[in-house]
Amino acid sequence: MCGIVGYVGRQPAVDILMEGLRRLEYRGYDSAGVATIAPDHTLDIRKSAGRIDRLAARLDEAPVSGTIGIGHTRWATHGPATDGNAHPHVGGHGVLAIAHNGVIDNFAAIKGRLIQEGYQFQSATDSEVIAHLIADCLAEELPAGLNGSTAREVAASGYAPLVRAMSAALAQLNGTYGLVVLFRDFPEVILAARLGSPLVVGVGDNEHFVASDPSPLVGHTDKIVYLADHELAVVTADDLKVVHRDQGHVDHNVQVLEFESGDVDRGGYAHYMLKEIFEQPETIRNTMRGRLSRDEATAVLGGLNLSPGDLRAVDRLLLTACGTSWHAALVGEYLCEEFARLPVEVEYASELRYRNPPLEKNTLLFAITQSGETADTLAALREVKRKGHPTLAICNVVGSTIAQEAAGGIYLHAGPEIGVASTKAFTSQCVALTLLALYLGRLRHLSFGQGMQIIDRLQELPDKVAQALESNDAIREIAEKYYQCGNFLYLGRQYNFPVALEGALKLKEISYIHAEGYPAAEMKHGPIALVDENTPSVFLMPQGLVYEKVMANLEEIRARGGPVIAVVDEGDTRAAALADDVIYVPNVADFLQPIVSVIPLQLLAYHIAVLRGCDVDRPRNLAKSVTVE
Ligand code: GLU
Repeated sequence: MCGIVGYVGRQPAVDILMEGLRRLEYRGYDSAGVATIAPDHTLDIRKSAGRIDRLAARLDEAPVSGTIGIGHTRWATHGPATDGNAHPHVGGHGVLAIAHNGVIDNFAAIKGRLIQEGYQFQSATDSEVIAHLIADCLAEELPAGLNGSTAREVAASGYAPLVRAMSAALAQLNGTYGLVVLFRDFPEVILAARLGSPLVVGVGDNEHFVASDPSPLVGHTDKIVYLADHELAVVTADDLKVVHRDQGHVDHNVQVLEFESGDVDRGGYAHYMLKEIFEQPETIRNTMRGRLSRDEATAVLGGLNLSPGDLRAVDRLLLTACGTSWHAALVGEYLCEEFARLPVEVEYASELRYRNPPLEKNTLLFAITQSGETADTLAALREVKRKGHPTLAICNVVGSTIAQEAAGGIYLHAGPEIGVASTKAFTSQCVALTLLALYLGRLRHLSFGQGMQIIDRLQELPDKVAQALESNDAIREIAEKYYQCGNFLYLGRQYNFPVALEGALKLKEISYIHAEGYPAAEMKHGPIALVDENTPSVFLMPQGLVYEKVMANLEEIRARGGPVIAVVDEGDTRAAALADDVIYVPNVADFLQPIVSVIPLQLLAYHIAVLRGCDVDRPRNLAKSVTVE
């Protein structure tokens, strides 16, 4: 996790760093810090535990200057969220400063050695070893230190000694890093490197930006270079060079960024999460755009990079993911089994990476991830790829690590998701999986007519989601009734079972209320013991095959005095007569129910969290993209 930003150019660096950190704050908010090199060649560092506003206050008291700098917003892995553990960290008695995203597995051994050599550590982080280690390697490269002429020679060589020192240090690290380094004596260059954590470079006019994701670039430049693992960038105001560990200098590919500034603003909503919930009719449309063929009654998924013949040869799908994406994977299981009659397994990526399951020969893996950077999902993808299976991704962030490492896949095109609790990415993942199931189904069992029916239903979906959002005010009133409860149950069956899991997760994530999602009929095998007058049960019970069965479960809860909130189809009067509160959603085909019935659950979690005074967009202990194991 964590957000990194760097700037070198002609403008005051600190303004750009602070704006960038605010945009990256969703990645971690335990502490924040910046380092700049002042015109008199001093390394100026300000950092503070807590949110970026505290760092801003510190900078008001003690401003920094300079047109080069780096910044960091932290999601702590090693050492608590204190001022001292905040990045940037200084190496070698002040010759350089670093900001790091990732985890260094062998930091303790390196730290022990460096302490013996006389380096003094100021923090409990694993990251600080990187700073001293680079400084140590630099001292070997430039044993006589610097005088004016050496500094000029170093610059004239393309900063070769700095690159060698940094490469030598990186070679000793086990773990992951997105890394930016400022050198006190070279106030015109930033070195940046990555292995396993994302890093991009923005190319401006006489200026360059470095960042963990493209959002800090927006409004400054639309030219972007995605660094790959083992690449190291030498970044000055006017120049960018990229060196690969094994291949030496590599030509970097400058791409055009498709972000708009509106994508990183709240657009008048109180929170990013609410904005993203209300964007869903549009984001769902974007996921489908250009991907439905009425001529062939199927989905068009060119990005899979597998021929119809290759896909017909697949005997089993393995869907792997974490968190909310794992719930989307469960929806995908129902979809692909129903439409394509393909056996599907859904695995937590964190389990799959170490479990070593026997994978049948013709197994195709899909890694599902919003960010494309989730560490466990990446590791699971690599493990399955190493075994020779085709590996594809369903992912939102273009150019992310998983998108690059997968042989192909489906981009969500849902736009940047800033709120830490995922909403629009989930519904877009479900849409992408529906398209996949339709495509695979049309290669196998589905007739033209069946394909057309699915397309018709999909095309109505954005309007149905917009209708579901109209219940927002009613849901706020329901939230007012229940926001002080300490436990919630979420119950649904079939396609609505994953939605029950997702509804419970949303509530936990942002309101810190304990919630359990369960298949409704399983409730009597244990969770029913939790039911009392202060434990509301949220029933997902649209019309369909199991409606009567879920109704019976609802009666069981009522008989024990538990309050019931029922999410039902418009026009349903039976559930309304029994439930304490009812939320109406438009009627849709059962395979699209997850996308419609999750909307009120997102809104319910949101309003409860707001009423409890929680920080909706930055819930405690969480971060948006989990780039650590
Ligand atoms: N492992 C480092 C720390 O705990 C960096 C964590 C991050 O990526 O924010 O400081």
